[in-house]
Amino acid sequence: MSLIHRRGLMLVLSSPSGAGKSTISRELLTRDGNLSMSVSLTTRPMRPGEQEGVHYYFVDHAEFEARVARKELLEHANVFGNRYGTPRGPVEEAMRAGRDVLFDIDWQGTQQLSDSAGTDLVRVFILPPSAEELERRLTNRAQDSAEVIAHRMSKANDEMSHWSEYDYVIVNKDVQESVAAVEAILKAERLKRRRQVGLSDFVRSLQVGKGN
Ligand code: 5GP
Repeated sequence: MSLIHRRGLMLVLSSPSGAGKSTISRELLTRDGNLSMSVSLTTRPMRPGEQEGVHYYFVDHAEFEARVARKELLEHANVFGNRYGTPRGPVEEAMRAGRDVLFDIDWQGTQQLSDSAGTDLVRVFILPPSAEELERRLTNRAQDSAEVIAHRMSKANDEMSHWSEYDYVIVNKDVQESVAAVEAILKAERLKRRRQVGLSDFVRSLQVGKGN
């Protein structure tokens, strides 16, 4: 086994809905074998094309509150009138094994993780290139009703007002460029000295001319 190993990190991607975050996440996950998605719990109804355990774990309010009471969630929040939360177990297991975890959560969840996760956390905020583009993307979401879209637009403004609470900000003009930007962030963060355990022993093993 290598002398150097690394505890996994928590990579949070937040954005207003319609900024392209899901596309970026999907692409990152296919390209990076050491990254896995944290699958959240939600009380919102399943949308067409979504799968239990892949996009979310769909639960009712009673089940959600029971999980909160048992402290099984790392963070939880109310978004668009529904409850969302991150199951603790899979995240802690992945990180112990040196695997990095990607979170698609909102600013409320990010604030909670900032309080509890400390230096394990890397926060990235994705902005749309312009208001026109954001509006176009929000309106093009076929699954949602006009009422939901209007509500999302006002929520988008609210979500964007939290951009300054993040470590990195990416303006998503081009998906491939944005994916490359997140990959660069990941690469640099993984190399941070404090994340690499066993460096002292490794450097000791490199000492030359001392008869070892
Ligand atoms: P959607 O219902 O469109 O899948 O997600 C709505 C919003 O909820 C998105 O901004 C997403 O980032 C956020 N969200 C999804 N899962 C979680 C979670 O576990 N915790 C928090 N705080 N937000 C979440």
